[in-house]
Amino acid sequence: MKMLINGRKVDARDGRTVEVCNPVTNERIDTIPLATKDDIEEALACSKTGLEKWREVPLKEKEKIYERFFVLLKKHKRTIIETLMRESGSSIRNGLFQFQAIPDLFRGYLETAKRYDGKVLVPGTENGHDGKTENDLQLVVHEPIGTVLAIVPFNAPLMLFAYKVAPALSAGNSVIVKPPTSNPLALLKMVELMWEAGIPGDVLQVITGNGSLIGEYLVNDPRINAVTLTGSTEVGIDIATSMAKRLSPCALELGGNDPFIVLPDTDIEKAAKEAVAWRMNSAGQVCISPKRFIVHNSVLEKFTQVALEAVKTIVMGFDMDIAHELDLYIEKDFSELEPGKKMVMNSLISEKAATMVEQQVRMTIDQGAKLLWGGGRHGSFFEPTVLGSVTKDMDVARDMEIFGPVMPIIGFDSIDEAIEIANASQFGLSGCVMTNDWQLGMRVARKVESGNVVINGTGTYRNMMQPFGGYKMSGLGREGFITLGEMVQEKTIIFKGFL
Ligand code: NAD
Repeated sequence: MKMLINGRKVDARDGRTVEVCNPVTNERIDTIPLATKDDIEEALACSKTGLEKWREVPLKEKEKIYERFFVLLKKHKRTIIETLMRESGSSIRNGLFQFQAIPDLFRGYLETAKRYDGKVLVPGTENGHDGKTENDLQLVVHEPIGTVLAIVPFNAPLMLFAYKVAPALSAGNSVIVKPPTSNPLALLKMVELMWEAGIPGDVLQVITGNGSLIGEYLVNDPRINAVTLTGSTEVGIDIATSMAKRLSPCALELGGNDPFIVLPDTDIEKAAKEAVAWRMNSAGQVCISPKRFIVHNSVLEKFTQVALEAVKTIVMGFDMDIAHELDLYIEKDFSELEPGKKMVMNSLISEKAATMVEQQVRMTIDQGAKLLWGGGRHGSFFEPTVLGSVTKDMDVARDMEIFGPVMPIIGFDSIDEAIEIANASQFGLSGCVMTNDWQLGMRVARKVESGNVVINGTGTYRNMMQPFGGYKMSGLGREGFITLGEMVQEKTIIFKGFL
């Protein structure tokens, strides 16, 4: 596929490309351009022109464009989901889940934009340059922030694209998108449909290629007025550093090592099954999946045994191989999928990612953990894995995020100790506490240092009404309908002596 710059589908100026391959079969699906500095220059220059036009487009007109986009999206549902599955090895479940969130997010942000009122300030009596303000009319209006760079990770590219692009566009900004290099195709297809629906080609553009090269060039250019990134903490720190140098805002949704705290009074069977289902979902490549299982020692054995039974039922596979499954589910909504259905666990995004998980598991075993199940790698697949005898001083119990299907189980004796283990991480994205005692659950939730804590359910919980984001090294800023506030700037216009 080609990049989407200035209303045209283009190759890189020097013709260089990078392959996009299926991680399961290694089959080459397509190539994408490796953008050059000149390509980026063009995108930056025309996004300014786009911004001038787009900020004047009334919300009613934007709404019509979005509605046309939803019609096209529906028409191309199969192509988009199949492309996503092929390029990322992802399951149909994941594809449907992401796909169905898109219209809701665009509609939701547009409705929020409609309610983004300006203000008329009550005239004060001080601080005018002549010492008086009582005859002045002061209006506070919202203006777009400018050109927003939206950087999207590999694990949920369609949904996270919408979480970034919908508020930016609805607030009147122009947007340059940097998709993940490994799996940019479904996202590119979606932006083509947005162009077809009427979003101008200089308002929404996509630049493909090497993340660190393109990222560094764009992030350091003053024509980028804000950056919104979902990705690793490492990349987030680089971006925050560059943006701080020119005092420009960035919103960062980063890594996590979320605690799943199991108190002894809970239904252990339910807790263990929930833990496995959400840890193994998408082969563990979810930012807010539970990643550290902190279990009271009195129920540790039972929890481990039920978790092992559940893990042993998981088979690994690629839903595209099961054509019947695809045909059966493609026209459905995510909510119609059978919840109790036997789990087919997909591959990781690449063999390199699976090798990384393999090394992290080996390192944890070298530090003293016991391999209770799994641990093997088969190309880009990694077996669902359970690690016992994990202690609080090990890397996996603290700052090492494993982005794969691995359950490290850590025992504790007192509530204080559970909280200490939960908080002994540089991350603070999400977490959960399993208990039947709501008051105790509340006490623990208040002490866990993270942006989200779920009592009696998994921490894999996100909806657009909430301010979603991390404490500590898991992020900066919040995503949700409130994001609109981060995509505008306030200006006070004063009519001197008007009243
Ligand atoms: P990544 O940081 O490697 O890449 C994210 C994006 O940044 C990609 O598009 C990449 O090309 C680009 N990039 C890479 N280097 C860059 C640079 N120097 N400047 C600008 N852009 C650059 O992350 P990933 O491997 O795609 O995703 C996995 C990580 O994302 C995990 O740590 C996961 O926890 C995190 N994540 C967080 C959330 C959240 O909401 N907090 C959601 C999903 C994923």
